[in-house]
Amino acid sequence: MVNTETMNVASLIDGKVDARSGAAQPVTNPSTGDVIAHVSYATAAEVDRAVRAAHEAFLTWRDVPVVDRVQPLYRFKDLLDKHHAELSHTLSTENGKTLDDAKAEVRRAIQMVEVACGMPSLMMGESLENVARGIDCHTIRQPLGVVAGITPFNFPSMVPMWMYPFAIACGNTFVLKPSEKVPLSPARAAELFHDAGLPPGVLNVVHGDKAAVDALLLHPLVKAVSFVGSTPVAKYIYSTAAAQGKRVQALGGAKNHLVVMPDANIEKSVEAIMSSAFGAAGERCLAGSVLVPVGAVAEPLLTALMARCRGMKVGPATEPGVDMGPLVTAAHRDRVAGYIEKGVAEGAKPLCDGREGAGGDGFYLGPTVFDHVDPSMTIAREEIFGPVLSVMRVKTLDEAIALVNTSPFGNTTTIYTSDGKSAREFCSRIEVGMVGVNMAVAAPMAFFPFTGWKASFFGDLHAHGKDAVWFYTEQKTIMTRWF
Ligand code: NAD
Repeated sequence: MVNTETMNVASLIDGKVDARSGAAQPVTNPSTGDVIAHVSYATAAEVDRAVRAAHEAFLTWRDVPVVDRVQPLYRFKDLLDKHHAELSHTLSTENGKTLDDAKAEVRRAIQMVEVACGMPSLMMGESLENVARGIDCHTIRQPLGVVAGITPFNFPSMVPMWMYPFAIACGNTFVLKPSEKVPLSPARAAELFHDAGLPPGVLNVVHGDKAAVDALLLHPLVKAVSFVGSTPVAKYIYSTAAAQGKRVQALGGAKNHLVVMPDANIEKSVEAIMSSAFGAAGERCLAGSVLVPVGAVAEPLLTALMARCRGMKVGPATEPGVDMGPLVTAAHRDRVAGYIEKGVAEGAKPLCDGREGAGGDGFYLGPTVFDHVDPSMTIAREEIFGPVLSVMRVKTLDEAIALVNTSPFGNTTTIYTSDGKSAREFCSRIEVGMVGVNMAVAAPMAFFPFTGWKASFFGDLHAHGKDAVWFYTEQKTIMTRWF
């Protein structure tokens, strides 16, 4: 699927590269601005071929015993381990996150496969003898059919693995539509899965934009849709696919608050805040984007934070010693710079401005910290998805909790404190789905669900963990009586 000489990326349908793809679009290396590949956007006819191939494969894959279904997954995990360095380099090159960050992402992706290998235990049903005299009852879990996955640019290695290893181990077949900005990592992983002996048609990959997505959402043979991306698109996916009678989980955008109590360990908190706000150039759905110092902690906290910001090295993602790489595209860099401009125009006070010294051919911005941000300002309300941290000072924990709870988003939040009571109070009262205590990024591991709330999630069952098993299976309850 990935031709490494010309770096042309095309769809993978029924185990083969599909030569009838639509127009090819450039893929850039955000560190240099160079075009590194071309990706063919799938036409509706191509998406139809992919779904039909997946449907055909489903008719036999669903009957393969689960202990046999997970064997290609074990071999896939082994190949991913062997190719860890190569996969991390590809990811860093096409996405712009640093090599260390890319390595960590590929590790997280591999953990998804490891957990999905446990499917024989995970998809067991329940049973109860003698629910009435001489009658037994048990439940079984069965696969749904063809599942479509639509993924964002910021975790091209990990987010597809939130989906297809679980779906496929459950007995479904899959059509993945990765982000058109970063098609190389998902294409290479799919290739390795086939090298591991996955039968043709079980995993298909189509590339492209809205046209390919719409063809999936409206296809009658697609039974379920997993989506991860921005909130407006998540809402559209959720409503469109649900109106077609499909099962949907749609993970959206975020605006994450980091609350710092007066009793917090400043040094360790600043370490975590730097990683949360500026790791992966702020292009994480769990990135901290609003810093909420409580009471007198604001001054020492901001002094320590600014010292760290001044020392940050921004540069090419694959270069050793770089703290922060570029943003994913020139358009996204300009969008984030537009938010900085708006912040200044609306009266927030920049303690550092990432636009200064952000030169070169790559799509760079340095860290930006705004102090005295007001809840009415655009930068306080909207997801920026870049290295911009807004400081909103409050006087008490109650005020901090109220501020976080007014956000329309509910992906993650963290409290920094050395007081157990404050932490407990915060965890209990906060209306957010993933909560950290003294954490940098409270990202649940593969065996726990990824539980965003409010405008950060549309659906019932979340990604990975046991939720993934429930999402990708239908329950059947069987009652038996023998005469
Ligand atoms: P995006 O919404 O622009 O794109 C996501 C996917 O949807 C891509 O595959 C894209 O091709 C497709 N798409 C884009 N516009 C579409 C449209 N109008 N109709 C149909 N499909 C469309 O998101 P992105 O910029 O790739 O990723 C960043 C966003 O993803 C951020 O908002 C971030 O918070 C979010 N995100 C959320 C989570 C989470 O777990 N909640 C995880 C990662 C990223």
